[in-house]
Amino acid sequence: MASMTAPKMRTVCHRCRPMSNHRTEDEDGVIQVHQIPDTGDGRLYRELPFPARGVVLIQSSECPDCHGTGWLDGFVTPG
Ligand SMILES: [Zn+2]
Repeated sequence: MASMTAPKMRTVCHRCRPMSNHRTEDEDGVIQVHQIPDTGDGRLYRELPFPARGVVLIQSSECPDCHGTGWLDGFVTPG
């Protein structure tokens, strides 16, 4: 997905980006958790309540902010 020919500024969509937890441990053994935004796939996922134990339903829909691309044009601050 790397494109070297189009140096256009773009921003990972804030609405549908997934967040990864990255754990680092410092010299004192303290675990720190950093949340790093990943590139989204342009879809929103939400869990639906389901009346059965151990079953999770995931509903996905196209992200209205980025129209399914996972990217926003230009530099966009989280809003
Ligand atoms: Zn989006």
